[in-house]
Amino acid sequence: MATGWAGDSAVQDQIDATIKDAIKRVRSQLPQGPGLARCEECDAEIPEARRKAVPGVRLCVSCQEAHDAEQGGVSGYNRRGSKDSQLR
Ligand SMILES: [Zn+2]
Repeated sequence: MATGWAGDSAVQDQIDATIKDAIKRVRSQLPQGPGLARCEECDAEIPEARRKAVPGVRLCVSCQEAHDAEQGGVSGYNRRGSKDSQLR
């Protein structure tokens, strides 16, 4: 009797690929290199304390908050994924 489960591994492969893709996307969004002295968006000065607290910072506090709010609506799932991957 045919079980019809032959497609299982293909589905799993697709799930794995999706997760890897999400991790890759999250990593590419991580700030890299030295932070900026001035906000990339509005050219406001970024305080040294903030630059130390947030390595690779590119936005001032208000632009970052606006950016986070935007991202939070779309990629809540990816954020959780990225937190998990940092623990490993
Ligand atoms: Zn700004």
